[in-house]
Amino acid sequence: MYQIEVDPHTHSLVSLHAYSTVEECARHAAERGLRGIAVTDHCSLIMAQRENSVEAILNQQVLPDRIGGVRVWKGVEIDIVDYEGHLAFEDVPDQFRPGMTGAQVLLPTRDVVIASVHTPFDRDENRGDVEKNTRMYCAALENPYVNILGHSGRSNHPYELRPVLETAKRLHKMIEINSASLGTHAERAGKACRSIAEACRDLGVKITVSSDAHSAFQVGEFSAAIAMLESIGFPQSLIANRTVESFEAALAESRRG
Ligand SMILES: [Zn+2]
Ligand SMILES: [Zn+2]
Repeated sequence: MYQIEVDPHTHSLVSLHAYSTVEECARHAAERGLRGIAVTDHCSLIMAQRENSVEAILNQQVLPDRIGGVRVWKGVEIDIVDYEGHLAFEDVPDQFRPGMTGAQVLLPTRDVVIASVHTPFDRDENRGDVEKNTRMYCAALENPYVNILGHSGRSNHPYELRPVLETAKRLHKMIEINSASLGTHAERAGKACRSIAEACRDLGVKITVSSDAHSAFQVGEFSAAIAMLESIGFPQSLIANRTVESFEAALAESRRG
């Protein structure tokens, strides 16, 4: 059984379709024996706070760094919005800071940035274009502010594993193994998640294991991911969030690129 002390991907009420406060998430984390959570609400033009995402998340500064003994990192899950790997708000002028985009305001000051594809920006025929998806994920990883590539196994954008994972390795970025993808979404995502994990194991790419909790009751719920990782003999040393210290170190490394 793996030791995992940190849940690096959780949502609070700020995501609007999530159901718990940050305090509730931290308290449930403590009850489960975790030592840290990252609050990574959605920064998106299509869901959550939409055009107000940047301001909503920017105000994480009012939160303490620790709640009930649990380290709380202030983060964001930001949408990848096109096949060039651009992120939400990269071309949207900030409402209050002239000359800056929303992404320029938000991303450099977050502790954790997860980049994920959500509701497809391309609704139909191109989603299966492996070459385009591969370029998209590589470009998102090249963004200096991105630390983690989120749930790439369940976003309906199949990609070539080696170039994406080698980009992650070169830049010391993390690939997320999202337990919700292997639980709720297992039927459509299970196989892809397993292939991604096997390739990370073989290439020596660091992963994060996350709950993607949308309520406090799901914080630290890693069981589906752990079962899969154990079945493929995934080395604990490549799980970046196994301890608070290893997660901090992996974040610092990913910022250096
Ligand atoms: Zn997501
Ligand atoms: Zn999420």
